[in-house]
Amino acid sequence: MSQKYTVPRGTKDILPSEIPFWHYIESSSRSLFGLYNYQEIRTPIFEHTELFERGIGDATDIVEKEMYTFTDKGNRRLTLRPEGTAPLVRAYVQNSIYAKSKVAKLYYCGPMFRYERPQSGRYRQFHQIGVECLGNALPIADAEVIAMGVHLFDELGLSGLSVTINSVGCAVCRPVIEERLKQFIGMNLENLCEDCNRRFDSRPLRILDCKNVTCKTYMTGLPDIRNSLCHECTDHFNYVVGYIDNLGIRFQINPQLVRGLDYYTRTTFEIVSDQLGAQNALCGGGRYDGLVSQLGGPATPAVGFAFGIERAVMILQELSDYHQKVNPLIYMAPVGFDQVAKCFLLVDRIRRAGYRVELEAGKTDLKSHLKQADKLDARLVLIYGETEAEQGNILVRRMTDRTQESVDFDAVLEFLLAEFGPGHG
Ligand SMILES: [Zn+2]
Ligand SMILES: [Zn+2]
Repeated sequence: MSQKYTVPRGTKDILPSEIPFWHYIESSSRSLFGLYNYQEIRTPIFEHTELFERGIGDATDIVEKEMYTFTDKGNRRLTLRPEGTAPLVRAYVQNSIYAKSKVAKLYYCGPMFRYERPQSGRYRQFHQIGVECLGNALPIADAEVIAMGVHLFDELGLSGLSVTINSVGCAVCRPVIEERLKQFIGMNLENLCEDCNRRFDSRPLRILDCKNVTCKTYMTGLPDIRNSLCHECTDHFNYVVGYIDNLGIRFQINPQLVRGLDYYTRTTFEIVSDQLGAQNALCGGGRYDGLVSQLGGPATPAVGFAFGIERAVMILQELSDYHQKVNPLIYMAPVGFDQVAKCFLLVDRIRRAGYRVELEAGKTDLKSHLKQADKLDARLVLIYGETEAEQGNILVRRMTDRTQESVDFDAVLEFLLAEFGPGHG
């Protein structure tokens, strides 16, 4: 027997059975972002390594441990993108998008790569959808981005949504926050992990984000970093919280929420659902007012979020009411070869109206048609045999409760409209 090949560790095939969920999430995101006047941007899968070292921060887990970096035949140091914000900002600067309008609202969707320990729902090639609003420093921009995230997960059918929110300060008050943290953490430094010790001097905020269980135990009683925020940051935070509260969005403040990237300033947030475990965020994001200038562009405030599609798919697969949102399958069953042409005509009409139909012309007896319809998980079977042809009817069978009724051949579309609502096509 010849060699069998498998996917590399930490990657997976997305099989046809899972694809409807992917399409559902992607198309819901696209149309919802459109309502907020966002536009898509597509950047290369790989970039110069320095972009991520500089953009994400060299004291982060991503840059220190997780990047897929290689040298190409021209001796360039390149990295498969581990996240979408730095490439988007690179494109924003390189193409002078800032010169075209004061505010740019952009989203991206695609694969990202991180060398992480594979576990349930976490892959080395994973997919993210993210939005970035560039050029707006006002707290309403943070609030709109948060509201858009909540709106999206609402639309996808998740309930019990709320926002966890924090502020990590700005260039003015960050040093004060870091000093306070160092005072607190310094007492226990020898008990913390190697990473935390290394990051203590240059990036003390990173320690709040350490995944080490022992390190986490030393974070209880941590001073609320919001007490060290400057006046402007406090105002900004209060406005953001006020705006989302006004929309009726539930939120809780978590002073330890710093997120694993160096570029955040002021707002950091996560969206959670009480349908999932407590610490399981659906998506995360924040403000990053320094990143654009750090990557060579003009000083530009920005705020955004991203979420993983794999996790969203896993969640939707567990939710039963999701299935009501998919375009249901209709199965066309010609009984006898003579009826195929007329059935072909009918399915053409139905598909043009936006419904999903399978025409099975290889079978001619009702029993094997119904067996096949069951196998395909069809919701409705349209039966057309000699009797129906004579009477100008179609026999419609609902697979959920096995009820049947006769419908005029020319009134099938009206019937589908009443049964399923307008077609999706
Ligand atoms: Zn500040
Ligand atoms: Zn640690």
